[in-house]
This record gives sequence, structure tokens and C-alpha cells, in this order.
Amino acid sequence: MTNLERLARRLERELPGLELRRGEPMSRHTTFRVGGPAELMALPEDEGQLCAAARLAAEEGVLPLPVGNGSNLLVDDAGLDGFVLKTVPKVGTITGAGNTLTAGAGATLAQLAVEAANRGLAGLEFAHGIPGSVGGGVVMNAGAYGGELCQVVRQVRAMDRQGRVRELRGEACDFSYRHSLFSGGEWLILGAAVELTPDDPQTIRGRMAELMARRKEKQPLDYPSAGSTFKRPAGHFAAALIDQCGLKGLRVGGAQVSEKHAGFVINTGGATCRDVLELMDQVRERVLRETGVALEPEVKYVR
Ligand SMILES: Cc1cc2nc3c(=O)[nH]c(=O)nc-3n(C[C@H](O)[C@H](O)[C@H](O)COP(=O)(O)OP(=O)(O)OC[C@H]3O[C@@H](n4cnc5c(N)ncnc54)[C@H](O)[C@@H]3O)c2cc1C
Repeated sequence: MTNLERLARRLERELPGLELRRGEPMSRHTTFRVGGPAELMALPEDEGQLCAAARLAAEEGVLPLPVGNGSNLLVDDAGLDGFVLKTVPKVGTITGAGNTLTAGAGATLAQLAVEAANRGLAGLEFAHGIPGSVGGGVVMNAGAYGGELCQVVRQVRAMDRQGRVRELRGEACDFSYRHSLFSGGEWLILGAAVELTPDDPQTIRGRMAELMARRKEKQPLDYPSAGSTFKRPAGHFAAALIDQCGLKGLRVGGAQVSEKHAGFVINTGGATCRDVLELMDQVRERVLRETGVALEPEVKYVR
């Protein structure tokens, strides 16, 4: 019996209330709408179940793949022969005290930003339109319009590979551009606390609406995608380089460099992971040849 099969049996026996799915298509759990089946997926109800499932996985020597909203993931067509721990939408309680909000890993950044606005707390307006979760956002140090999560995250609750829960201060999280201590996949983020600044709720909502309007104007939000395909290379903008090389509209199968925003690869319908990877390769090769700049994927490819 494989470790994964042993884990599945233990999860069923020891956590009878835990929702488990076998062979679950990852295309249902990624905003790209791409990806083959995950051999085993758990959808915990709350942090207690999330931790218990992760501990059993550690005991069986299985490293889970935590998935939030799947908005930065490109999953292989052959799927994942591992264990997916999905935090969205259930592990997402948000509580507040003073200027601090504490959220479970599965709260969406949009929910957190709206809650902050309702409480008259500013600082998360930039995150309102990022379609990720608190867990995925912290891992990626998600950011937009001059804001980054590291500016507001004061504490992260996370489980290490040995199943120990740790409270890490923001400064200990090694945040940099689209990177954190957690980027290596060794940690399971359980939640985070953000410290914000008091402001008028209507003013905050106005800023959120303005940024959302800018997104809608510039980004191909009508199509499935994983947002910016490539990271911003030092001193450049990936979209500008791709556009400069005349690659807007370039297609492989159902995957296309968006005509609206060259930084996005979109799924125009029926795109496979292989289509997306092939298109990304072509874009990288052309941009390197014509501009000398090496593009690095922001989207995380998993198999
Ligand atoms: C239309 C669109 C617009 C976007 N705009 C932006 C933007 O402006 N700025 C920006 O930064 N990003 C943007 N993104 C990308 C994406 O939304 C962010 O990277 C987001 O933070 C990913 O969160 P997620 O919950 O979807 O993570 P996922 O895609 O589910 O996972 C991303 C990574 O984090 C890991 N992970 C997820 N949850 C946990 C957890 N609890 N513990 C440990 N690891 C975890 C995963 O294993 C994976 O490695 C955009 C995406 C789309 C589709």
C-alpha cells in the first residue's frame, strides 16, 4: 500500500467528518480552469480539521499541496498524484480587535478587504481585486498598485513539516517581491493578522472601487487566467516587453497571450496545461532573443 493510500484510510477512520475527494479535477479549483485530477483532496471545515489532516499527512510522510483559491496555479494535465489540502472557502474566519484583523488561510483577500472597509480600516484596498486567499496571498506576498501584503501582515500562523504550529512575526517571514519564507512549499499557513490604519469607510470603499475599475479596464477578466504569467523583471515590465515583441494574440491551442493585457495568458476555451506551458516557452524565448531579458514565471506550475 502506498503512503497516500495509507493516509486516505487514516483520514477516513480518524477524521470521519472531513470531506475527502478522490480523482477531483483540479480544473475545478484553479482560475485557469486547467489541470487534471488530484489523487486525494481534503476540504477541511475549519482550522482544527486542517491541522489534524496535515498532521496525519506528516505522520505518513506525505507532503500536502495547500491550495487556496487556485488563482496562481497551473496544474499539469496528468494531474497530481499527491494530497491537496484546500482551504477556500471554509477555513476563513475573520475576527478583529482594534486596528488588527485576523483571518484564516481560506478567507479571500476580497473578504478581508471588505471587512476592513466595513470596520473603517485602511491599508488593504490594493488587495481587494486580487482573487486569492490569505494563505496564497501571504505565500506569494501578493501585491498591486503599490501595495504588498508584507506592508500590513504583522503575524502569520503556520505549521511546519513536523506538524508544529508556529507564530511568526511579519519581519521573520522573509518577504520580498512575490516571495516569502513559505514559497518553498514546506509550510502550511493557517492564518495571518494584519494591522491597518483607521480611515473613513466611504473613502476606503471609494479607493477600492477606483482600483477595481482600473483592473476591469486593463485586465482580461472575462477569461480564465492565473493573472500575471511572468514576474516583473528588474527595470522592466513583463507586459511591455511581450507587447514590444508583437506577441499579443499569440496562441497555442486554447491558450492565448491576451490582446487586452500582454502580461496575461488566458484560456480562450479548452486550453490544456501543455498549451499554456508551450505558449509560455515561446514567449520567453522570443522576449529573450529580442530584448535580452529573461522572464521568470509568476504562475506556479505543479504536477
Ligand atoms: C485575474 C487575476 C488577477 C490577479 N492579480 C494579481 C495581483 O494584482 N497581484 C498579485 O500579487 N497576484 C495577482 N494574481 C495572482 C493570485 O491571485 C495571487 O498570487 C494570490 O495571492 C494567490 O492566492 P491563492 O489563494 O489563489 O493561491 P493558490 O493559487 O491556491 O496557491 C498559490 C501558492 O500558494 C500556496 N498556498 C496556497 N495556500 C496556502 C496555505 N494555506 N499554506 C501554504 N501554502 C499555500 C500554493 O501551494 C501555491 O504554491 C491574480 C490572479 C488572477 C487570476
